Amino acid sequence: METLELHIPQSLFSPAAYEHFEGEYALDVLKAGPDLYSFAQPLIYRVDVSNTGDALLLTGTVEGEATTSCARCLDSFSFPITGDVEGYFLINEGDEAPGDMEEEEFEVLPANNTIDLAPYLQAALLLEVPLVPLCKDDCAGICPTCGTNLNEGTCSCEPTEETSVANNPFAVLKDLPLDN
Ligand SMILES: [Zn+2]
Ligand SMILES: [Zn+2]
Repeated sequence: METLELHIPQSLFSPAAYEHFEGEYALDVLKAGPDLYSFAQPLIYRVDVSNTGDALLLTGTVEGEATTSCARCLDSFSFPITGDVEGYFLINEGDEAPGDMEEEEFEVLPANNTIDLAPYLQAALLLEVPLVPLCKDDCAGICPTCGTNLNEGTCSCEPTEETSVANNPFAVLKDLPLDN
């Protein structure tokens, strides 16, 4: 995974200090379960880092345009995506994280005062990608027999077995209790 290093300037180590950072994040492909999202243009991140006393709080957004293929018709389509970035870095190892924080919710600031933003931006995007990517909510999909994209036209294939069972007037019989 490509890194995106954010160096924390000395000024941020005074309590209540605050700094804004923004830039581009070139991410070719994001893998979300079985789905791949590609980004033709670099994503834009805008983050704030603030000093809470014993930790640095990272908040902000990452946005861009994702391209993937529709789970039903397999056509590729693009959509805008914006994720909320969040991170929490203890300044000194051994400092206590707030009591309600799970161990995976914070890190200790690396000794070189450099944060790799890449995993935080990717985590933000992963929360926003759809569970099942569809080019549109009512995508008609493709004909399982001839492969016609049914959003673009119809085909003359016989209904598939699945549909013909549903339309068969005798189909209800299979649900009747039978005497053995
Ligand atoms: Zn589709
Ligand atoms: Zn067909």
